[in-house]
Amino acid sequence: MVSQKKTIVVGAGPVGSLAALYAANRGDDVEVYELRGDPRDPSTVPLNFTKSINLALSERGINAMRNAAHPGLLDAVLAETIPMHSRMIHGQEGGQLLEEAQAYDVHGRLLRAVDRAGLSKCLLDELDRMPNIKFFFNHKLVGADFRRKLAWFERKIPKSQDLLSNPSQPGSGTEKNELEVSFDFMIGADGAHSAVRYHLMKYTRMSYQQEYIDALWCEFQISPAKTTNGDDFKISPNHFHIWPGGDFMFIAIPSLDKTFTSTLFLPQAKFDELDGTPDVLVPFFKANFPGVVPDLISEIELQNQYQNNPHLPLISIKCNPYHFGSSVVILGDAAHAMVPFYGQGMNAGMEDVRILFEHLDKYNPSTQPGQIRDHLLTKALEEYTETRRPDAAAINDMAIRNYQEMRSDVRSPTYKLRKAIEEF
Ligand code: FAD
Repeated sequence: MVSQKKTIVVGAGPVGSLAALYAANRGDDVEVYELRGDPRDPSTVPLNFTKSINLALSERGINAMRNAAHPGLLDAVLAETIPMHSRMIHGQEGGQLLEEAQAYDVHGRLLRAVDRAGLSKCLLDELDRMPNIKFFFNHKLVGADFRRKLAWFERKIPKSQDLLSNPSQPGSGTEKNELEVSFDFMIGADGAHSAVRYHLMKYTRMSYQQEYIDALWCEFQISPAKTTNGDDFKISPNHFHIWPGGDFMFIAIPSLDKTFTSTLFLPQAKFDELDGTPDVLVPFFKANFPGVVPDLISEIELQNQYQNNPHLPLISIKCNPYHFGSSVVILGDAAHAMVPFYGQGMNAGMEDVRILFEHLDKYNPSTQPGQIRDHLLTKALEEYTETRRPDAAAINDMAIRNYQEMRSDVRSPTYKLRKAIEEF
C-alpha cells in the first residue's frame, strides 16, 4: 500500500507558499514552517521592517500561479495589481522636466505592480482552504539530518502564550522549545540566508558563490495627491518610474492606495557621505532626481524616511546542486538570490516551483511505495537541478547587467538606436 507522503516546506514567502500549494494538489500531507508570525496578523513585522515592498509581477510568476490550477488564486492576485505598460524615464533639460515612456514589449505585454504582503495573503488564504496543509508560524529551522529525514525547529512562544493556548500544534514530533519533525521530502524556500541551504551543504558537495554588490537600497513612500475628489496618484500609475543617475537611481512603483513605493539605490560610499552630512540630502535629490523633491516627497519627509528606513544590502547567490538524494530541494532566493534590477527574483522563484513539479509529475514518485518512490524522486530532483541551474544562473547575471541599463543606459542617446537595431 502507498502511504501519504509528508512534505515539509520551510519558509512561507511567495515561493514556499506556492510550493506548498503544488505539493498539496498532489495529495501530499503538507506542513509549512515559517520563522515569522502569520503575515496576515497586523502585529507581524514585515520582512524588511518597513510597510511592505512593492514588486513587479511578470508572466514568469503569473504562469506559475496559473499552473497551480486554482483559478480563484490568480484572479484574486491579479485583481490587486496595477498594470505597468512601460517604464517612464525622468530627466531634465534646460530647467524643463522631461518624461519619456519606453514600452516593455512591442506586443503590448506588461508588468504588474503587486504588494508583497497582499500577494502573500492571497497565497496563504488559498492554502487555508486545503485540508492537507498545516501551518507552523514562529518556527525556525535550526537543524536537519537529510539521511534520516529529520528536521529541528525552534519554536518562539510569545510571553503571553502558553502551550495550551497556542493552536498550532504539530501533528507529529516531540515538542519542547525545540521540535523534532520527520518528513519524506523537504522543500527549502527560506530566502537568501537559507538555513536549509546551510545544512544541505553538509550532505552534498555544493559549489557556492555569493556576492554583495556595491549598492544599498532605502525605501521611501510617495503619499497620494489630495484633490477635491479624494486621493489621487501624484504621477502616472501605469508606469514603472525611473530617475537614472548614472552610478545610482531612484525608482517608484504604484500601489493600490494611490501611493508609490520608491527605492533609492546608491553605492555604499555615497550613502556614507549623505549619512554624515544631512544638509546635502535634499540638494543631492534635487540635482539628480528632478521633480521628486518637493513635488512628490517634501524635504522633511525625505529626511525622515532616509533616516528611519533601513539601508539594506543587495546579495547575489549561485549554488549547485539544489538537492540531496530524495530528501530535499531548495527553491527561490534560497537557491539563487539575485539583485532586484531585472524584477525577476520572486518571479523566477515561482517559476522554480512550476518546473520542479513538472519533473516530479514526470516521474510521479508519490504513487510508488518506499524505495521505488525514493529512487524516482532522486531522478526527478537530479533532472531538476540539471535543467534549472543554468537558467537561474543566467537570470542572476542578467539582473546584475540590468542595473547598468536602469541607472544609466535608459537615458543614453544611443539607447533608442540600439533598441531599434535589436528589434529590427
Ligand atoms: P523570501 O521572500 O525571502 O521568503 C523566505 C521566508 O522564509 C521568509 O518568510 C522567512 O521569514 C522564512 N525563513 C527564513 N529563515 C527561516 C528559517 N530558518 N526557518 C523557517 N523559516 C525561515 N522580485 C521580483 O520578482 N520582482 C520585483 O520587482 C522585485 N523587486 C525587489 C526589490 C527589492 C528592493 C528586493 C530586495 C527584492 C526584490 N525582488 C523582486 C526579489 C524578491 O523579493 C525575492 O526574490 C522573493 O521575495 C523571494 O521569495 P522567497 O519566497 O524565495 O524568499
